[in-house]
Amino acid sequence: MSNIPVYQNYINGQFVQHSANYIEVMNPANGDVLSKVPSADKVEVEQAIHAAKQAQPEWASRPAIERAQYLHKIAEKIRQNIDRFALVITQEQGKVLSLAKVEVNFTADYLDYMASWARHIEGEIITSDRKGENIFLFRKPLGVVAGILPWNFPFFLIARKMAPALVTGNTIVIKPSEETPNNCFEFTQLLDEVGLPKGVFNVVCGSGRNVGQALSSSEDINMISFTGSVETGSVIMSAAAKNITKVNLELGGKAPAIVLDDADIDLAVSAIKASRITNTGQVCNCAELVYVHAKVADEFIRKISDAMASTRYGDPQLDPDIEMGPLVNKSCLNKVASMVEQAIAEGAKVATGAKVADTDSGYHYQPTVLVNCHADMEIMRKEIFGPVLPIQIVSSLEEAIELANSLEYGLTSSVYTQSLSQAMRAIELLNYGETYINRENFEAIQGFHAGTRKSGIGGADGKHGLYEFTQTHVVYMQN
Ligand code: NAP
Repeated sequence: MSNIPVYQNYINGQFVQHSANYIEVMNPANGDVLSKVPSADKVEVEQAIHAAKQAQPEWASRPAIERAQYLHKIAEKIRQNIDRFALVITQEQGKVLSLAKVEVNFTADYLDYMASWARHIEGEIITSDRKGENIFLFRKPLGVVAGILPWNFPFFLIARKMAPALVTGNTIVIKPSEETPNNCFEFTQLLDEVGLPKGVFNVVCGSGRNVGQALSSSEDINMISFTGSVETGSVIMSAAAKNITKVNLELGGKAPAIVLDDADIDLAVSAIKASRITNTGQVCNCAELVYVHAKVADEFIRKISDAMASTRYGDPQLDPDIEMGPLVNKSCLNKVASMVEQAIAEGAKVATGAKVADTDSGYHYQPTVLVNCHADMEIMRKEIFGPVLPIQIVSSLEEAIELANSLEYGLTSSVYTQSLSQAMRAIELLNYGETYINRENFEAIQGFHAGTRKSGIGGADGKHGLYEFTQTHVVYMQN
């Protein structure tokens, strides 16, 4: 216990000694205490915002290609330390090591990708109605961005906020989740090593109630880029409203997987199973429920139940061959268990699983398939965020889409069919930010990850995600 690392907030280019309370970070697979991290107060948040604000004009005045060089250097350093970062993520978050390595590699790729935009950020020149006038649209940084992070892909999400922010000339203050801050401090160490100018990137760790709220209600923050739950997104939006601060919200999902009567069932089974157990079901865009056509329902249910039941799970550090680790904490385990109990009370039948796993330690839940589900059940409407797949039988594509569009979330969806016209019809009718045909998550760096309805405002990735971090300055120039 005495040898555990004690991390410090990173403000104005320095790890600053913290004098007040610390939070202990736990390993969800075995309960070990991994580190102590600051539980910061409003004063430290204000110091970080001040540092970011002071640093921003000079940072923005540099050529974008020079800003991008820092991102490339960080990416290079990440690639030199893949195993080390993957272990830090696995220990505090519980995902299997192979997935943690994917996350680390993807993070490095993301930094390089966003850096590659340095020579492609474009304004516009528009013809005027007036003689001798040109209309210029300049694309400029917003100023200081606050990045508030969840715990499920904590390392990647640092890059998803900071890379587009920095290459477009903003500075940033990051608040990691209290559950998974260690990887953020290790990432920050790299920034320190590549000599990023002071104040450009700052980290303040502490609770959402204190640090998150102070960031969201600050008038010196020009955009809050938040990834997390709908409930917190709504609180952040209210706080931001006071100062009319721009929000970019990447919130929860309830991704429906629609399996049609002409689907390749084996493909659908393997894709949906992989999606549902990836990161123990704790992914915003993984299949959260299935609408299966009555004609193929028996075969699909039998095969997906067998596939889910065969999932190997346990402590990712003890067995590198497992497919699934624990849930991130006890309260998430309890939430999943209680949603399943509620579904059974509402009439769902258990095809497999439906119990807290009988393991020596860790927050493990059995991979679960529930059938006989219908649209009124809580489990068919609320995000589960665990390895539980509820299934409803439908009689047509139109019925599935009507159900899918009635959900309060609109992040991602998937459709399994071998017919191009059914696929195109689904694309036309689905009111979702993202749809996968004959596959499940994940999204691509160059795509655009965004939700409709309560799944968020704005989006991330690609050109459109990059431009979220800019504002337009229009100039009317009369000769
Ligand atoms: P969460 O509970 O909403 O927390 C997210 C972050 O917000 C944490 O850093 C949290 O701080 C902070 N926070 C809490 N209360 C706050 C407040 N009043 N003001 C400002 N910040 C506050 O979400 P989570 O449980 O970490 O993450 C899971 C959720 O994220 C799921 O719903 C998932 O679908 C969603 N997600 C969405 C995407 C996407 O791209 N759409 C991607 C990943 C995850 P603490 O340290 O106190 O927790």
